[in-house]
Amino acid sequence: MKVLVVNCGSSSTKYTLFEMESEKKIAWGIVECIGLSEAYYKRQTSDAKEKKTSIKVTNHTEAVELIIEDLLDKKTGSIANIDEIAVVGHRIVHGGDKFSKSVLVTKEVKKGLKECFSIAPLHTPAHYAGILAVEKMLPGIPSVLVFDTAFHQTMPDYAYMYALPYEYYEKHHIRKYGFHGTSHNYVSQRAAAMLRKSLSELKLITAHLGNGSSITAIEKGKVIDTSMGFTPLQGVMMGTRCGDIDPAIIAYIIKKYPRYKNDDDLNTLMNKESGLLGISGLSGDMRTTIKASAEGNKKAKLAFEMLCYSIKKYISAYCGILNGIDGLVFTAGIGENSMAVREKICANLHALGIEMDAKKNNEPSVEERFVSTANSKVKIMIIPTNEELMIARESKVCLHASAQTDE
Ligand code: AMP
Repeated sequence: MKVLVVNCGSSSTKYTLFEMESEKKIAWGIVECIGLSEAYYKRQTSDAKEKKTSIKVTNHTEAVELIIEDLLDKKTGSIANIDEIAVVGHRIVHGGDKFSKSVLVTKEVKKGLKECFSIAPLHTPAHYAGILAVEKMLPGIPSVLVFDTAFHQTMPDYAYMYALPYEYYEKHHIRKYGFHGTSHNYVSQRAAAMLRKSLSELKLITAHLGNGSSITAIEKGKVIDTSMGFTPLQGVMMGTRCGDIDPAIIAYIIKKYPRYKNDDDLNTLMNKESGLLGISGLSGDMRTTIKASAEGNKKAKLAFEMLCYSIKKYISAYCGILNGIDGLVFTAGIGENSMAVREKICANLHALGIEMDAKKNNEPSVEERFVSTANSKVKIMIIPTNEELMIARESKVCLHASAQTDE
């Protein structure tokens, strides 16, 4: 059984084709810079052959068409016929409070998704275009939507509500949703396997640290709280996002800088010009920040310290909320690869039972591993995330469940 995972981002379309018996990737690739002159298509097959070509694609529909035609290519493609694909799994960033789990695409589901356009205007229209393009290119092949927000739907109301007048929640659905749910879900399942326990016995904190970062508190497999909010801007400091700030600062900035005339300008400031980039003035990339800091750049050092401090604060708060934890998981680009960030975050957390083994933390590896001391009450784990595989698994389960209800 083959499952195609499609991820239409704001200006890119990524895909992965899985053979589900072995859960192996057969082919994967990306169309980047959609709508721009520098657009290109990069793809790889399981024999690790990589091909990068400049292309002209003006929208997500064309991107999906190009990908499917390439998958079917007689010489270099990975499938001979579209019927080889059992189901297509779409990554959807925001499901609002309409979608609490993965769903098979129907007319009703598409209508519900359209209603989510206003809360994720950068992503949802792109997802929607991707779904329509897949329907056109793969007629008769079912599609499943897998939401980044779904895993967080178990949060209690006192965690997801903002202390604004209640009508903003009722009329406009303004509440915390949380993001990276597929990744937090995947690594929490892997953590349980590594600890040889059932999720129902565990209290975990998962730290997804990449260009965008979020921390999640999980008890008995259910999310209790997460650091991102109504949008992926809230929470810890990130590459180019400010994370938590005093909301009154925004009104003050509008007064001080007349150039901020509308919500787009302010969103750009907080999402694209802040974080590591805003503080260092150099880059939103962690590797560049660490290198500059080591070379004596004081602002880069400050940016690094601020980011680690904000993550440490969330981990400590969530330890309190959970009344102690069994495991702490690091994942995504920074979490998996930066020894310096992990070390800084875990320094002096003995009071919470978190003790990192410096030697293990410094050993480079791409495997799942423990990096806590033998005596650490909390097991610290590094777990490479695999959102695509999680989406493929969810899509398969959803397809089988719908087949059973049809019977
Ligand atoms: P992601 O969004 O998960 O792809 O993560 C991207 C972030 O991971 C960027 O800030 C990268 O600089 C960072 N990253 C990747 N590898 C390393 C590394 N070896 N050391 C520090 N940061 C890294």
